[in-house]
Amino acid sequence: MKITEIETIPLRVPFAHTFTISQGAGREFIETLIVRVHTDQGLVGIGETQAWRRQGSAETIWNLVRTIKDYFEPAIVGRSPFDVAGILRTLDATLYNTLYPQAAVADALYDIAGKAVGLPVHTLLGGECREQVRVGGLLSLKPTVEELLDDAQRFHERGFRHFGLKIGVDPRQDLANVVALRDRFGDGVVIRVDANGALSYDAALSLLKKLEPYDIDCAEQPLAIWDLDGLAALARATSIPIMADESVSTDHTLLEVIRRRAATVVQTKIAKNGGMYRIWRLWALASAAGMRIYPGNHPSTSVATAAVAHLCAAWPEPLMEGVFAVGVSGVLAADIVTNPLAPENGEIRVPTGPGLGIELDDEKIARLRIDR
Ligand SMILES: [Mg+2]
Repeated sequence: MKITEIETIPLRVPFAHTFTISQGAGREFIETLIVRVHTDQGLVGIGETQAWRRQGSAETIWNLVRTIKDYFEPAIVGRSPFDVAGILRTLDATLYNTLYPQAAVADALYDIAGKAVGLPVHTLLGGECREQVRVGGLLSLKPTVEELLDDAQRFHERGFRHFGLKIGVDPRQDLANVVALRDRFGDGVVIRVDANGALSYDAALSLLKKLEPYDIDCAEQPLAIWDLDGLAALARATSIPIMADESVSTDHTLLEVIRRRAATVVQTKIAKNGGMYRIWRLWALASAAGMRIYPGNHPSTSVATAAVAHLCAAWPEPLMEGVFAVGVSGVLAADIVTNPLAPENGEIRVPTGPGLGIELDDEKIARLRIDR
């Protein structure tokens, strides 16, 4: 079997409510790219990446499209879609530092491989260690504590028991939000906080010290992407474990986090880390270093959500209740598949069909695509 074409489908997917984190203005939509890798035997694989455009991502939707059409497609047409690792090496050599566009192509190759042999991707990756995966609810920044508590309450009623709380703009509000969550839910929920790299060292230390009494499971990316020494110092100065997210892209960057003991938790994302194959390597490295693993994603459709669900299903060791399903948990107002992966009772059921086990819905895609 040979690859014949990479089709790109750029989409603009609306957020259900304005999505606000510490970086940049609130957003009304996310631009996400679906690719369909075609083969000479009629099998088509799908993958997804995003134009996130915050720390760690300078991607726009159109440079994702151009990178894939102008550079990746000519480099891999004629290759076997089973040659995942070799193709990724070629893409790296073709255009350096392109994890975001590589992600969609790499995952589409696994989708083809699974469809070719009639097995779900997790079976190809290592087997089935889980049939469902517990996920966390993402609490984006809100104007008032009451609105934040309303969001948390809705998640709680849907069976979520793990919160990823955005922080990093106003430390007094951050503290008030944490206090309010503990007041409302007591010890019945796990709270993780995420500053998206917005804080100075001094501001982070001051805030985390105030949060220590509230049993925070970990603090995600408190400092800027480049400040690994700062993260390492912070990790020694507070009892709250530190998670690296934006600071980890390639395996080399994770290795540097490990060497400096800059974090004891790592978050991966399909787009940020270049797809399932590369994430599996990151998890192996993190696990060998004794780190905890937090499966994440930018807000994604069911396609990238399914990719992480397959990784989780195949992973034989513990995993945290990550935010990889945030897009399909209500943050995005639309999906593009016939069989959406919505969480039930706070859990995502791992797809069991061949490949990713996901079918695109042409009508839904027609409404959201921005190239025609
Ligand atoms: Mg993050």
